[in-house]
Amino acid sequence: MNKWLKVNLSSMELSDFTFSEEVLRKFIGGKGIAVHFLWKYAKKLEEKGINLKNFDSLSPDNVLVFATGPVTATKSPNSGRHHVMALKSPLTGSIGSGNTGGRWGAKLKFAGYDGIVIAGTAKGPVYLTVFDGKAELHEASEIWGMNSIDTTKWLRDQFGKPRAGVSCIGPAGENVVPLAVIMNEEHRAAGRTGLGAVMGSKNLKAIVVEGDQKPNIANPEEFNAKVREHVEKLKENGVTGEGLPTYGTAVLVNIINQKGMFPTNNWQTGVDEEAEKISGETLTDDYLISKHPCWGCVVACGRKSKVDSGPYKISYTEGPEYEAIWALGGSTAINDMGAVIRANHYCDIYGMDPITVGSTIAAAMELKEK
Ligand code: SF4
Repeated sequence: MNKWLKVNLSSMELSDFTFSEEVLRKFIGGKGIAVHFLWKYAKKLEEKGINLKNFDSLSPDNVLVFATGPVTATKSPNSGRHHVMALKSPLTGSIGSGNTGGRWGAKLKFAGYDGIVIAGTAKGPVYLTVFDGKAELHEASEIWGMNSIDTTKWLRDQFGKPRAGVSCIGPAGENVVPLAVIMNEEHRAAGRTGLGAVMGSKNLKAIVVEGDQKPNIANPEEFNAKVREHVEKLKENGVTGEGLPTYGTAVLVNIINQKGMFPTNNWQTGVDEEAEKISGETLTDDYLISKHPCWGCVVACGRKSKVDSGPYKISYTEGPEYEAIWALGGSTAINDMGAVIRANHYCDIYGMDPITVGSTIAAAMELKEK
């Protein structure tokens, strides 16, 4: 789209910018272009006398970058993902970085932008809309405090856009919990390094995107031929053509457990005798509603799932991914897929990273044990 949006929440100013062709060819998109932006931004902060080592990740000077790549929203397979970065993570003290599936990245392109940079801190809760090239900030006190699923629904209803892409934080991000994520499409997350806390510190509840624009393809014939070639390769491959579509990323549970590397009891061992109960095979046999691909994906490792009965009963949720299973299941020795599904759902609605949540609980369990 050759257009990026910059939002300064301190001044409530919105402006468009682009990168030079040289920069785009060097850094391409996603994490590459986001890091390039952060590098330049860090230099500017240093010139202003701000010491990056002591820099507070929750200060208005921290910046969030939402980045897509040049093939996002094209027919290129698996091109619905996007990347989010922050200059500093509240969890690690280093650079913040999270990659997410879903459809939001493609919808940002349809709304007319390749990426969004968020700087400053708003005086009170706000959300951002980007509809067909037009960006606007809105007051968000009505949805501050809502969980991520209710927030997504409220925003779609508010604009009569049931298919709009919504990236948002839940209560964890609002309370700047360092393991907070940025959710999108209800159950997908830029999950690592506490990016949700950075968004919460800026008083930004959500970014809603929709539009009818499309990226131009320089040579559609050649591009389509490459797309067909890559789709074929993905379908022929045992992992992307069979393992992931059939069992989701949970296909890894039994495989990794057999290799002795499945995080069990806070990694005190790599073999879980009851791993089968929280495996991809069990998920598929007893809890699966259907596959759920990200935008443009031919692999479809995403899962729509349910728990039919018992204390963890839930008629609809998504996931869990392999990482959520080992963290909330194996590492805490809870070999009950229903419990893992429900715990993962809670992480989604409150906007927390299930890997860090599970690992934190597992560490507390081992400390208590010893
Ligand atoms: S459904 Fe799975 S394989 Fe497809 S883009 Fe999403 S995360 Fe990747």
